[in-house]
Amino acid sequence: MFSPLTLQLIETLRALPGIGPKSAQRLAFHLLSSVGQQKGLKLADALQQAINNVAECQLCHIYTEQPYCNICANVKRNDGLLCIVESPADVVAIEQTNTYNGRYYVLHGHLSPLDGIGPEELKIPSLLERLQTQAVTEVIIATNPTMEGKATAHYLASHIQELGIQCSRIAHGVPMGGEIEYLDGSTLMHALQARMPV
Ligand SMILES: [Zn+2]
Repeated sequence: MFSPLTLQLIETLRALPGIGPKSAQRLAFHLLSSVGQQKGLKLADALQQAINNVAECQLCHIYTEQPYCNICANVKRNDGLLCIVESPADVVAIEQTNTYNGRYYVLHGHLSPLDGIGPEELKIPSLLERLQTQAVTEVIIATNPTMEGKATAHYLASHIQELGIQCSRIAHGVPMGGEIEYLDGSTLMHALQARMPV
């Protein structure tokens, strides 16, 4: 039904996260159409440039073209505060709140022993080394509220507390504008446990 190269394009697109067979087909046809071709070539060029030039920041593992990212290179950020997240997207989300002025560490995943992802794969040993040599006084763990995120947070907290560094985890609970009656039991349980004085 598809020509070999069309099929190759569809299958390549389909291998991307969040793209199902229909979306892959629609994207491929768009990129091949007369209006889409220029965009397709631009995409190919941007991809190649980014992949050839972007790498992880040597300190926090955010993506950057420089040895150190903008946040690590910024002397105005608070060196005493470090926030650990699972992905670079989490850094973007926290930065957008404009309430955090410390440094970051991106794990690029969470502990998942069944998939062969242990502390080494997440570069946790180098993080612990960094904590020993730098003036970090407080670590905020902002891993996702999933089973794996929780397990990762526990692992990190136990090792960080051993270094005598104050360690906390971001609160999980009732979303702003949310209604309690529609919350799932586990979220509500966490909200109750993480209650604060008013
Ligand atoms: Zn950095």
